Amino acid sequence: MRYAILSDIHANVLALEKVLEEARRQSVEAFLCLGDVVGYGARPNECCDYLRDLKAVVVRGNHDEAAVTPGKEEWFTLPARECIRWTRDQLTAENQAFLESLQPFNRLPGAHLCHGALSDPDLYTTSPGEAFVSLSLMEERCCFLGHTHYAEWYVYRNDGRLPTQHLRPQGGELQLVSGRSYVINPGAVGQPRDSNSQASFAIWDNEASKVTIYRVSYEVETTRQQILAAGLPPSMADRLPYGV
Ligand code: ZN
Repeated sequence: MRYAILSDIHANVLALEKVLEEARRQSVEAFLCLGDVVGYGARPNECCDYLRDLKAVVVRGNHDEAAVTPGKEEWFTLPARECIRWTRDQLTAENQAFLESLQPFNRLPGAHLCHGALSDPDLYTTSPGEAFVSLSLMEERCCFLGHTHYAEWYVYRNDGRLPTQHLRPQGGELQLVSGRSYVINPGAVGQPRDSNSQASFAIWDNEASKVTIYRVSYEVETTRQQILAAGLPPSMADRLPYGV
């Protein structure tokens, strides 16, 4: 089976559409999403609609949760809080119900799915030590997670020592081998922060035991204009061309 793995779409529908095009070109059969479908961006409903139509397996991100949980936005920075309140007002009843239905963890043969870490979906995984927290809880060979908006993976030799970290801001291919475990972040579709403005996602081919991270260009300037026209904080628009 060939799975597309998407994370941190953040209501950026133009980036999502380009990622879906590339995934179809790559003969993907199913879609997995690691959360933060909404928040920051100006097109939350369209992004939810796409995932529902695709029958994607989606786990809940912190922005998804806050968008449907009044009061939760208090935990976020001021601009993020503004985006969450705006998003809450925009959501259709169907998409509100969709976000409310999401669970923080999922598991399929060969992989765990979560937003930030297996111990706590709100934790950031940015270092070998932090990746080790998820590795120590894993029962499958891979754990796919997002939240940091960095495309990267960690390789663990199952020997009790820390895994090695491999940043992949330009994409790359990972051959999975037996006797090792992996924590893999496909990067962000809608708001990359690894200094590459291109949308990021991964394809996991579980028969070929291969994970490939792809970067694809999208209409950043149009997306910027959508964010500004919606009255969202300008910083959410202005970071996109820099991938920060
Ligand atoms: Zn995010």
